[in-house]
Amino acid sequence: MWPSQVELARAGLRVAVFDRQQPGQEASWASAGILSPAPESPGMIVMVPLGKASLALYPKFVAEVEEISGKSTGFRPKGTLEALFSHDTKAELSTIIALHHGLGLRAEALRAEDARELEPALSEEAEAAALRPDEASVDNRALMAAILEAAQHSGAQIFSGNGAKAIWREKNRCAGLILQNEKVEAQWTIIAAGCFSAAIEGVAPYAPVRPAKGQMAALRADELKIDRVLWSEKIYLVPRNDGRIVAGATVEYAGFDKRTTAGGIEKILSAAIELAPGLANARIEETWAGLRPDSPDHLPILGPTDIDGLLMATGHFRSGILLTPITARLVREWITEQRVTVDWDRFSPMRFQAEKAGATKKMPA
Ligand SMILES: Cc1cc2nc3c(=O)[nH]c(=O)nc-3n(C[C@H](O)[C@H](O)[C@H](O)COP(=O)(O)OP(=O)(O)OC[C@H]3O[C@@H](n4cnc5c(N)ncnc54)[C@H](O)[C@@H]3O)c2cc1C
Repeated sequence: MWPSQVELARAGLRVAVFDRQQPGQEASWASAGILSPAPESPGMIVMVPLGKASLALYPKFVAEVEEISGKSTGFRPKGTLEALFSHDTKAELSTIIALHHGLGLRAEALRAEDARELEPALSEEAEAAALRPDEASVDNRALMAAILEAAQHSGAQIFSGNGAKAIWREKNRCAGLILQNEKVEAQWTIIAAGCFSAAIEGVAPYAPVRPAKGQMAALRADELKIDRVLWSEKIYLVPRNDGRIVAGATVEYAGFDKRTTAGGIEKILSAAIELAPGLANARIEETWAGLRPDSPDHLPILGPTDIDGLLMATGHFRSGILLTPITARLVREWITEQRVTVDWDRFSPMRFQAEKAGATKKMPA
């Protein structure tokens, strides 16, 4: 999550980003860019307040990044629409709406015909829909390019092709990073290497992340208009300002393999056509895959460790684009104020050590 570097540089700190390649080319490039704090499973409910706080920061965050960089981010605050196809849509819809309201998230129940009036591309088979008017999307590739530019304008130095081998530890303090051929001294070291973080020597106990592959396809259908992000239980469709419709995504645990497969793309295309049948005539412009940084409990890993000067900002799994502004703010607050304005304990990098200690204690003698 190197966008933190923009906030730090703007706070007057001397900031350097070391990346083994050009920053912004991994999961943050591969993403769909949906900005939805709604939980995807019961285990993700604890993340809702963080997601809501980040979504609330988005309009100001993109406005600042766009102003500093002079580049558009493709931010679309147009809401999202979830179509329901089951035979028991009435019960399903009221559960969805009640869950959202219980979490302080706006959601409206729509009849199928009202949903199709908003989004005529929606299948005739959809029985009802839930509209989440506060949700949004951003063109993550454009956002990454704009953030990189803004970081440089704000004084951050970017060292591409210069990855970290290890943290540079001196007793209980992190003195900086060990790169391929040199050491770099720093008062604060932030590990934000996505699903690759655990491969940096000394990091795995705090960030035991692994890659969760997601395959995607970009479609273009000139005669079909989709305004909002559309969901079904199988797929999402994300319209971009340039007319592309991004469809995704699979979740696969296949190591660091970023290849697309016939089965993965077939699954995406058939679910996309089921949700918006007009896409059957769409051109396939691109297919790709990226690696989400997943943690053992699927929650982000944020904050200080028990090594002085060492911070983690990784494990964002399926929500790293949503969580970009709040991650940037938290990292800046930890470093400049040593306190943060958001409840984050649940996401501490120290939770894995505590779990290990608990497990060891429970082991029979
Ligand atoms: C298919 C897909 C769809 C997604 N959809 C969404 C979505 O709709 N909404 C959402 O909010 N999130 C989504 N996500 C998740 C989101 O993209 C990620 O959570 C987020 O991009 C992670 O950002 P990151 O900076 O931590 O990791 P990355 O973007 O993977 O960046 C890691 C960086 O670390 C660098 N690096 C690696 N090793 C080293 C090293 N040793 N030293 C220095 N640098 C190193 C890499 O080169 C890279 O630049 C999606 C992800 C995928 C793959």
